[in-house]
Amino acid sequence: MKDPKVERPSVIQPSEEPWTHEDAEDLYMLPAWGDGYFSVNEGGNIQVNAGENQSSRIDVVKVVDSLSQKGVTFPLLIRFQDVLMGRIRQLNEAFSNAIEEQAYLGTYTSVYPIKVNQLHEVVEELLEAGKPYGMGLECGSKAELIAALPLLEDNKTLLICNGYKDRPMLDLILTGQQIGKPVIPVIEKYDEFVSWNELAKKRKLDAPFGVRLRLTTAGAGKWADSGGDLSKFGISIPELLRVVEYLVEQEELERFQLLHFHLGSQISDIRTLKKAVREITQVYAQLLKRGLTIKYLDVGGGLGVNYGGGYNGSDDAINYSLQEYANAIVSTLKDVCDTEGVPHPIIISESGRALTAHHSVLVMNAIGLYGKDQIEADFKPNNKDHRIVMDQFETLNWLSADDEMEIPELLEAYHDAAGKRNEADTLFSLGYMPLEQKAIVEKLYWAICRKINAQVHRRDEDLLPPELEQLDSHLIDQCLCDFSVFQSLLDHWAIGQRFPIVPLQRLNERPTRRATLVDLTCDSDGKVSSYIGGNNFLEMHSIESGVPYRFCIFLMGAYQDIMGDTHNLFGRVTEAHVYADDEEPDGFYVEKILPGTPVKDMLALVQYFPNDLYSRMNKHIRAAIQNGSIKASAGYKLLERYAESFNQSTYYDQSKNV
Ligand SMILES: *Cc1c(COP(=O)(O)O)cnc(C)c1O
Repeated sequence: MKDPKVERPSVIQPSEEPWTHEDAEDLYMLPAWGDGYFSVNEGGNIQVNAGENQSSRIDVVKVVDSLSQKGVTFPLLIRFQDVLMGRIRQLNEAFSNAIEEQAYLGTYTSVYPIKVNQLHEVVEELLEAGKPYGMGLECGSKAELIAALPLLEDNKTLLICNGYKDRPMLDLILTGQQIGKPVIPVIEKYDEFVSWNELAKKRKLDAPFGVRLRLTTAGAGKWADSGGDLSKFGISIPELLRVVEYLVEQEELERFQLLHFHLGSQISDIRTLKKAVREITQVYAQLLKRGLTIKYLDVGGGLGVNYGGGYNGSDDAINYSLQEYANAIVSTLKDVCDTEGVPHPIIISESGRALTAHHSVLVMNAIGLYGKDQIEADFKPNNKDHRIVMDQFETLNWLSADDEMEIPELLEAYHDAAGKRNEADTLFSLGYMPLEQKAIVEKLYWAICRKINAQVHRRDEDLLPPELEQLDSHLIDQCLCDFSVFQSLLDHWAIGQRFPIVPLQRLNERPTRRATLVDLTCDSDGKVSSYIGGNNFLEMHSIESGVPYRFCIFLMGAYQDIMGDTHNLFGRVTEAHVYADDEEPDGFYVEKILPGTPVKDMLALVQYFPNDLYSRMNKHIRAAIQNGSIKASAGYKLLERYAESFNQSTYYDQSKNV
C-alpha cells in the first residue's frame, strides 16, 4: 500500500521562519515511532529518555563523543540498557494491568526468543532485567538450546523449545528436565512426539511437553505464512487428536502442559490476533473438558513495532498499543474460558521484536554529500563555445528573467534542456564534442532543472506533468555513509522494511538538503531507498569538512545484528552498552565496549590468513627492491604498513583523512 503523501514540498525552499528542535521532532516524526524513549533536546541533539518514568536524559552526542575519545571506530551500535528494561517493564505491566482490570485468574510470564538477538551479553542483560517478572527464554534450534540451557540459574525460569527437533535436541531437553529445569519442548510434528516418547521411556521420565497448533487463522503481512493452513509449522487438529488418544491410552494426560501458536512476526492488525486467540482458547477448553490439565497457553510472538511511523495498512506499522495487545489477549481468553466453564490458564507470550527493537541505535558518519554539479555563478559562454552551450545558457537566462512562468512554459523549457543534453551526448559519442563542452552542457542542464523545480513548487499545483513531478527525485543529493546495508540494515534490503533515520545533531537548525543515504558496498542495492513518512529522501544539513556529521538509525535491536551479512567483507560493527545514571556528570556510563570485527577475522572467514598473505606480499616487495623500483628501507616500511592493516576496522577510517 502506498503511503499517504506527506504535505511538504520536497525541495527545500530557503525560509526566514525560525526553526526549533520541536520542528525537527515533527519532521522526523519522533513521537510516532519513539514511544517516548527518544526526543530532541534544546541543543538540537538526539536524546534518550530512560529510567522509571522516562525521566533520565541521555544526550547521545555526549555518549558518542565520549566513546570517540576512547578511540572506538564507527559505525557504532549503542545499546541503551535502560530502554531494554523499560520495554520489559512496559510489557509486564501491560499484562498485569489487563489481568487486574478484567479479574483474570491466571498469571502472565514472558519468554524472550533468543533468535531476535542471541548475543551473550544481550541475553544475560535481558534475563537480569526480566528477573523481577520471572521472564524466561525461548529457543528455536539446537544451537540456541545448547546456548540457553546453562543460562537458567534457578529451577523456575522457563525455557520453551520450538523449532524442528532431532533426537540429540530432544535428548538435551530431557537432560534439562532431569536436572530440574522447567524446559518444555513444543511438539511441531507428530513424529517428533513419537521420538520424544521413546527417549523419555528409555530414561523413565514423565517428560512433559507442549504442542504447537496450526490454526486456521493466518497472520497478515510479510510473515503471514507462519500461521494458517500453508504454514510449515505446527500440528493439525487430526494430529492433535492422535496425541490425545495416545495420552488417554497410556494414562498420561498430565504430560500435556502447554498449547502454543505463533502467527508470525509484526502482526499489524489487532483483529487477526483476537481471532487466533479465540480459536486456540476454544481448542484449550475442549481439551480440558476431555480431562487434560493444560497449564500454559502460549500466544507466541508477533507483538509489532511502529517502524514506519503511522499505521496505514502497511507492514511496517501497527494499529494497536502495547496495552491494547495485552487487553485483547486477556479479555478474549477470559471470555472463551468463562463461556466454556474451564479454568484460566497461565499466559505466556514470546515477544522478541517488541522488547528489543527500541534499545539499540546505530550511529554512523556521513563521509560526503554529493549534489548534482553546479554551474559557476559568473559563467558566460564565449564564441568558442558550442552552439548547444549557447542554447542552454539562453534557456537558463529566460527562466531567470521571469519567476512567474506558467506550467506549459516550464514544461517547454524542460523539454528543450533535456533534448539539448541528449543531443550533446550523441555528438560526444560520435567525436564531435570535446569533454569540457559536454561538462558545461551538463552543469547548465542541472541549473535549468533547479530553476524549473523552484518555480513549480512556488506554484503549488496539484496536477503536474510527470516530467515536472519527477524533477524533485531527479535532483536529490547523495550522502555517502560509513556503513553497510547488508550488515546493519538487512531487512531494509531484503523486505523493504523502513527504519527511522535522523541526524544526530544540529536539529535546532533547519535542514537544507535532501539526500538518499548510500553505503560503502560496491552494490547498487547498498542504499536506503525509503524513509519515515514515505519519502525517498532524508532531510539533512550541509556538511562542513572536518566536522563530523552523524546519523542515528533507530529501532535496530531486533534481528538486524544477528542476520547481518558480510557482503564486501564489512564486519560486525563496534558495540557499546550504556546505562543511565543520574549520579554521573553527563547522566550515563559506558559499561562495555565490544570492538567491531577487524579485517583479519573477516578474511579468516573466507580462508585468508595473515601469515600466508604477509609472506606473499614480502616476496613481491623483495622483488621490487631487487629490481630497483624501491629502496630497501622504503620497501620494508610498506610491508609493515600492510601488516598493520590486518588489525584495522573494515569500515571507513576518517581519522586518516587529515
Ligand atoms: C520468531 C518467533 C518469535 C518472536 O517473534 P517476534 O515477532 O519477534 O515477537 C516467537 N515465537 C516463535 C515461535 C518464533 O518463531
